[in-house]
Amino acid sequence: MTRLLFGGSKVHWGRNRRARPPDHSSMHSPARFILGLARDLFDLVAPYRCAGCDVPSPTAPPLCPRCRDALEGPEDPPADVRVPYAWVGPLGLAIARAKYGSYPALAASLGSLLVPAVGDLRGEIHRVVPVPLHPARLTTRGYNQSMELSRAVARSLMVPLSPMSLHRVRDTPSQRTLGRADREANVRDAFAVAQGQTLRGLRVLLIDDVVTTGATLYAARAPLLASGATVVCLALAHAPRMSASVG
Ligand SMILES: [Zn+2]
Repeated sequence: MTRLLFGGSKVHWGRNRRARPPDHSSMHSPARFILGLARDLFDLVAPYRCAGCDVPSPTAPPLCPRCRDALEGPEDPPADVRVPYAWVGPLGLAIARAKYGSYPALAASLGSLLVPAVGDLRGEIHRVVPVPLHPARLTTRGYNQSMELSRAVARSLMVPLSPMSLHRVRDTPSQRTLGRADREANVRDAFAVAQGQTLRGLRVLLIDDVVTTGATLYAARAPLLASGATVVCLALAHAPRMSASVG
């Protein structure tokens, strides 16, 4: 399995190995642990690989210069959502790996691609809030990719990252195969501001990884607005309706 280096900003995309879902059944196997350790040691001395095309990259993760140059802007993104890229090509592959593989460090490095999209918000934002996963989904996946994406943005804006401000109170089915109306119904009232959180008068930057119709971001924004916050919505990439989209 492709291994990533944890504990830093480095993402190592291993030798011609492909992302696959985490194998929790063998998590506690001593043999698997030793194998994983050996792979991590191997990765320490091997070159980085681009998360979009798998070639060795001379630059920092997640994408090589060629894949960065191939980044495309979104076509017809939903209203009131800042979204710098389209979910296509190498970035689409890298996001899918971060979202459906077990690669939190890759998700964190993808956050660096969001930083240029918030330069004008410096001094204007009080908190960065990632769109939360339901606790059951978080347990299965092991991390929230939107939370990992948000780290670089919060660091760049020098404001607190507040993942506990917003909760997902319903574990909704995937949005992937739903039409616009069903998507809205699926996530309606799925989010709530955490008890004891005081957001009145704050300007919140709400971050998700991928946006399609905007249904998830709008549903997550609603309780923040109701609590008196002002909200700016941000997503890394816009997925066309007919693709394997999520939000
Ligand atoms: Zn590349």
